[in-house]
Amino acid sequence: MSNILVLGAGYTGIAAAVRVAAKTRRVGGRVRLVNASPTFTERLRLHQTAAGESLAVHPLDEIVAGTGLDVVLGRVARLDAARHEAHLDDGRVLGYDKLIYALGAVADASVPGADSHAYTFYDHEQAVRLCGHLGTLRSGTVVVVGGGLTGIESAAEFAEAHPRLHVVLLSRGRPGSMMGERARAHLDAALERLCVEVRTGVEVHKVLPDAVELVGGELIHSDVTLWTAGTRGLPLVAGSGLSVDARDRIVVDSALRSVSHPDVYAVGDAAAVTQKFGVLHGTCQGGIPTGLHAADSLAATLRGKTPKQFRFGYIHQPVSLGRKDAVIQFTRPDDSPRRWYLKGRAAVAYKEMVSSSPLPTYRLLKRGLVPVRAFALSAGIP
Ligand SMILES: Cc1cc2nc3c(=O)[nH]c(=O)nc-3n(C[C@H](O)[C@H](O)[C@H](O)COP(=O)(O)OP(=O)(O)OC[C@H]3O[C@@H](n4cnc5c(N)ncnc54)[C@H](O)[C@@H]3O)c2cc1C
Repeated sequence: MSNILVLGAGYTGIAAAVRVAAKTRRVGGRVRLVNASPTFTERLRLHQTAAGESLAVHPLDEIVAGTGLDVVLGRVARLDAARHEAHLDDGRVLGYDKLIYALGAVADASVPGADSHAYTFYDHEQAVRLCGHLGTLRSGTVVVVGGGLTGIESAAEFAEAHPRLHVVLLSRGRPGSMMGERARAHLDAALERLCVEVRTGVEVHKVLPDAVELVGGELIHSDVTLWTAGTRGLPLVAGSGLSVDARDRIVVDSALRSVSHPDVYAVGDAAAVTQKFGVLHGTCQGGIPTGLHAADSLAATLRGKTPKQFRFGYIHQPVSLGRKDAVIQFTRPDDSPRRWYLKGRAAVAYKEMVSSSPLPTYRLLKRGLVPVRAFALSAGIP
């Protein structure tokens, strides 16, 4: 009987755990799913939580009911890949034969003051605290650092939910620079309509309790700062003995096994997964297929078979612009923009379909109804 541990019950960890439990049932695998919180965090919606929207709560026990998985509640503090042990912060030690690592990422807040004076979207609690803080302000300035999709979505959401607050979006490049010209024009117009002040070509030097200091010395007053500029692996990965890249993501081979410790599989934001066009960036879109593929690789290995190569291609860049607008840029597999895009109501409906799709997907997976081929298609692979 194989002792399988899945660390992290986010988007990718649940997908991996449900699938590996189904695939190893016949060979008597014991699968434990470890998570810090008893509920599933819909990270895709954390900007909505922070803006004050009440969202449904999804207990993990309900999501995995009927799979035979054991849910272990606890926070992983240390991982010892050589000894095959995960140490929880309450002293429990969980041994494993095979591990699927799916603990996600933290904000890359290496600029001085960012970790102490800025909010991040690390977990649901931070989003709730940010929501409380925004709710206490009658006027003032909210600075969002980072012009990637999370920064854009957050700035738009805050500006719409709190029209009395001045929202400033700070970005090195043009927000949405990865999109095509027409989708980007829609995005620019939406941010202007919502009165978001967009500052591009700026580099943050320091985050202070009441300001953001730019390289060059300019101070931008800030009552609340949200840091969304980049992510990296959890600090505990660096001390685990696993091979990691410059952003502390676990480097994996084509079967999604750690290149240094093949009994460890890494998925989602935590993994450095290389495709022909480069290393995947953290999305659910790519993350859930990695979770499913790692489960299949692990099950194949237990049966003495050679695991298949992971292949993935992007299909879209979905961006909400408040609750009444959105823009969806359709992409080639390498994430470069195609000609097609959606905007307005059609884009809002599409974005909502994307954000709400993981839970029905887990329900189908539990019933064995989602063939791998469907995921390959959803991942843009012909
Ligand atoms: C506001 C926002 C909007 C986004 N929008 C999109 C989008 O539209 N499309 C898209 O594809 N992607 C989007 N993303 C990115 C997407 O959310 C991530 O890529 C995705 O969540 C990665 O899944 P994951 O399973 O790797 O990590 P996560 O979903 O973060 O899951 C990690 C899990 O590990 C748990 N955990 C963490 N540390 C510990 C610990 N030490 N011990 C125990 N448990 C722990 C957490 O509680 C969590 O359950 C968005 C992200 C944000 C913040």
